[in-house]
Amino acid sequence: MALANENYLKTPEIYCFDEIEKRVNAYKVLHPVSKIIRLGVGDVTRPIPGEALKAMHAAIDEMGKAETFRGYSPPQGYDFLIEKIVKEYRSLGVSIDKDSVFINDGAKSDIGNIGHVLGRDNIIAIAEPVYPVYENATIMSGRAGFLTDEQKWSNVVYLRCSEDTGFLPELPTEKVDIIYLCNPNNPTGTTLNKAELKKWVDYAIEHDSIIVYDAAYQSYITQSDVPHSIYEIKGARKVAVEIKSYSKTAGFTGLRCGFSVFPPELMVYTLNGDKVPLIKLWSRRNANYTNGVSYVVQRGAESLYSRKGKAEVHELVDYYLTNAAIIRKELIDAGLSVYGGVNSPYVWFKTPGEQASWKFFQQLLYEFQIVATPGVVFGQSGEGYMRFTGFSSREGTLMAMDRIRGNL
Ligand code: PLP
Repeated sequence: MALANENYLKTPEIYCFDEIEKRVNAYKVLHPVSKIIRLGVGDVTRPIPGEALKAMHAAIDEMGKAETFRGYSPPQGYDFLIEKIVKEYRSLGVSIDKDSVFINDGAKSDIGNIGHVLGRDNIIAIAEPVYPVYENATIMSGRAGFLTDEQKWSNVVYLRCSEDTGFLPELPTEKVDIIYLCNPNNPTGTTLNKAELKKWVDYAIEHDSIIVYDAAYQSYITQSDVPHSIYEIKGARKVAVEIKSYSKTAGFTGLRCGFSVFPPELMVYTLNGDKVPLIKLWSRRNANYTNGVSYVVQRGAESLYSRKGKAEVHELVDYYLTNAAIIRKELIDAGLSVYGGVNSPYVWFKTPGEQASWKFFQQLLYEFQIVATPGVVFGQSGEGYMRFTGFSSREGTLMAMDRIRGNL
C-alpha cells in the first residue's frame, strides 16, 4: 500500500487565486456581456521585450543546426547568463562569486525547493500578510505543526505586520532559524530600507539564522534607500540566500526564468554542531533534481542585460509602476489608508467602512465589475484589506478608477 504524504492534505484544497476565478466565473455566467477589469491576480499582461524575442529566435535557429545545437544546460545555468548577473551585482557594489549563482525556472520553484536542504526541525518565521507560498511550502514539507484555533500553524512564528507597523514585519522576539523576507513585499507593496534590513541581517548573524530573501520585485524599486539586493547590507552573505526572477521584471511569467544566490560563506549545522556550507547541499540537490532551464529562455534572459534590453525592461516596469501610481492616487483621494505602489506594482488598502475583504471583493465585482484580491487570502492579518495591482493595461486601470471615483 503506497502511503500519501499527508502534509499535502493540510494545505487548502483550492489555491486562493482559484477561488477568485470561481467567483468571477459565477459572475460572468449571470452577466455575460459585462466588461470586467482585472486588477487582481499578480500576472503581467504586456508582451516581453523585443530584445528577448530576438535573442530567443536566434537561439531557436541555433538549436536547428548540428554545429550550434545544445543539449542539457550546465546544472547551474549557462556562463553567458551567470556572468551578466555577476556584473549586474557589481554595479550595485556587491561582489558575488560566479559559482554561487543558480539559474532556475522562476522564483517559486526555489522558494519551495530550499526546504529540501534545510533540516525538518527548523523554526520558520513568516511575515503576514505575505506571498502564500512560504507558508504552504512550510506546511507541505511537514514543518508547520498543527493548525491552532486561531488558524495559525503551531510551529510557525508569524512576524507581526499590520497597520501599527506600517505593514513592515517586526523582528521576532524569540529565536527562529529560517526567516522568509519579501522585499518589496507582495501583497502590501511595502519595503524595508537599508537601515531596516540591516536589523534583520544583524538578527540572523546573532542567532545563526538564515534569511530566504525573495527579491522578485526588486526592479520596481524607485527609492534610493531601498536595497536591490540583501547583499548590499554588510554581513548578509553569511546569512542570506537571495532569490530573483525575470517574471515581473521582463514579462517572463510564462517563459520561466530566475536565479538564486547561495554565497559560500552561508553555513548550516548538523545535529553534531558541524558547519556545512549550504551551497554544498544545494549543488547536490541541483545535480539530482533538475536538468536546468532551456537554452532558448536563458538566451532571452541574457539579452535583458544589454543596453537596449535594459531600456526595454525599464519601460515595461515604468508602465506598471505608472498604473500603480494612478491607483494609489485615486485611493488616497477617496480618503482610504493606502500602502505600496511606489516601489512595487502592488497597492494595498483598507476597505471602505472596514468591510471584510471577501465582502468588498463582491462589491467591487458586482457594482463596478472590477476584480481585486482580498487581503485575507494572504493571511488573517490581511482581513479588512484589499490588493490592486498595476499589471492591467493603462486603459483598463483608468477605466477602473473612473468606475470607483466618488462611489466608494
Ligand atoms: N515571489 C513573490 C513574492 C511573488 O509574488 C511571485 C509571483 O507572483 C513569485 C515569487 C514567483 O515568481 P516566479 O514567476 O519567478 O516563479
